[in-house]
Amino acid sequence: MMKHKSLRRFLKARKFDLDKTAHMWAEMLNWRKDNGVDSITQDFVYDEYELVQRYYPHGFHGVDKEGRPLYIERLGKAEPSKLMSVTTVERFLKYHVQGFEKTFKEKFPACSIAVKKHICSTTTILDVHGVNWMSFGKVAHDLVMRIQKIDGDNYPETLHQMFIVNAGNGFKLLWNTAKGFLDPRTTAKIHVLGHKFLNRLSEVIDPSQLPEFLGGTCLCPNEGGCLRSDKGPWNEPEIMKLVHAFYVGEAFYSRKISSSSDCDDLEIKSASSKVPTRGIISADSESDGRVCNYAAMQVMPLDAEVSMIEFCVYLFLNMI
Ligand SMILES: [Zn+2]
Repeated sequence: MMKHKSLRRFLKARKFDLDKTAHMWAEMLNWRKDNGVDSITQDFVYDEYELVQRYYPHGFHGVDKEGRPLYIERLGKAEPSKLMSVTTVERFLKYHVQGFEKTFKEKFPACSIAVKKHICSTTTILDVHGVNWMSFGKVAHDLVMRIQKIDGDNYPETLHQMFIVNAGNGFKLLWNTAKGFLDPRTTAKIHVLGHKFLNRLSEVIDPSQLPEFLGGTCLCPNEGGCLRSDKGPWNEPEIMKLVHAFYVGEAFYSRKISSSSDCDDLEIKSASSKVPTRGIISADSESDGRVCNYAAMQVMPLDAEVSMIEFCVYLFLNMI
């Protein structure tokens, strides 16, 4: 069974259209089954990680000011053709999916425990300094397209904000044109910044969480640099003890909760019984920051939310 049941994200992605959401959800379950996603964190070993990291520097590093995991890519340092000489598209996609699964199993729960509020999205920084867009050939283009499809279909609504930094004038112009064709909900999350990006980034990220190459103070010298360090609450033993304790009990919790009115944010609801706090603030991307008491979650009288709850109960009765 899937480890995360964030139906709300799927509902949001389909603008609360229940038929479309049900279809999307079913497709996602099929995809997980066909690709062995439930066990991918244990089954798949990405031996070529070190080389991939060299030709495509990327990784999680720290948290933003509200406690969301920070994901960084140095696209300007990426070398697509060399990347494709050390891995294959299929293996890279598996690695990508494995990364998402770890984010749901470890990073979001750990971050939620660390800040005592529900975390279910990431803040992303793409450093495009020195990117030669022409060097991104067909294979890289296809890869990006396939990644976007996998993410959009199976991990919707997990991006809180994206900062594209060191963008040149050409990129900015392109972005301003492209914006007109994109969903405003998406464009509102994406900020294209030039070389003077630090002030804007500092509004949402503490400099201690930013690598030096982005103007922050972190170097992670003992881990081979910031993008290899995977630093964050998900590496704190005390927090991970709680996260793992929760997963051992998950089967029990999911059955118990299937008759409950809320099936979104289940992980934290269950975990919160082990954490010395009951009040958790929803840090959902479109939340207004209201306090949701997870012990009494029925504080959402909105029609959409009610439909969502009915839909959740229906799905759980049919799928568990
Ligand atoms: Zn660092």
